[in-house]
Amino acid sequence: KERTFIAVKPDGVQRGLVSDIIGRFERRGYKLVGLKLLVPSKALANEHYADLSSKPFFKGLVDYMTNGKAPVVGMVWEGPSVIKQGRMMLGATDPRAAGPGTIRGDYCLSIGRNICHGSDSAESAEKEINLWFGGKGEV
Ligand code: ATP
Repeated sequence: KERTFIAVKPDGVQRGLVSDIIGRFERRGYKLVGLKLLVPSKALANEHYADLSSKPFFKGLVDYMTNGKAPVVGMVWEGPSVIKQGRMMLGATDPRAAGPGTIRGDYCLSIGRNICHGSDSAESAEKEINLWFGGKGEV
């Protein structure tokens, strides 16, 4: 069964978009199999975004995810093609390129405040579920 990691980032939580995002995945027919509200540690955020560690925005991104002004909602969703479809439901990383009807396309305009995260491959999904949920056995 295919699973992906979807997160509502602090800006999405702060803006009250959690129920909308969960609802979109539920109504599509996907199954929620893991859910937690947390302020991630620096170590968790650094590892989650390890591929971006050389980017100029890396430190700001990690600070934003971990500063505790709002928590993150981490979720595991299960169902057919949920990795690819989940990314399509989120919309393009840069909200200025995200189509209407997508989460980012409907609710934001700034790449630094793009509301949500979704695993981009089966390998990322496995890594991220393990990282955020401490092993697939938990979910
Ligand atoms: P995500 O992993 O969040 O779903 P992605 O895999 O599509 O996004 P990445 O290029 O891995 O895109 O970027 C990860 C996150 O880093 C983005 O979602 C965004 O929050 C942040 N980010 C990317 N580019 C920039 C930028 N130029 N300025 C600020 N933040 C950025």
